[in-house]
Amino acid sequence: MDERAYYSESQTTKPAMLNCPYCKSQESYELRWMVRKKKDRLPGGADERDRAKFAKAQSYMVLVDDKVACKNLRCRKQFDVSDVKTIAFI
Ligand SMILES: [Zn+2]
Repeated sequence: MDERAYYSESQTTKPAMLNCPYCKSQESYELRWMVRKKKDRLPGGADERDRAKFAKAQSYMVLVDDKVACKNLRCRKQFDVSDVKTIAFI
């Protein structure tokens, strides 16, 4: 069984303070996250192994955006999203 079957997926956005490496301005950016929320119960067709894995599974979110465009109008350069953890357990 695909581990994705353990979770219901949705998307959310969360603000993060990021520093542009080019102009050094700090702004808040809405980053998109994929939320994988553990289901209350396993879907049908699960075997022993699925049950064991499901018991250990945890809800988590994965960062979708890896780049943002600088909000400084005189800069507007794209830069990598660093300093943000790309996976968070919820
Ligand atoms: Zn910039």
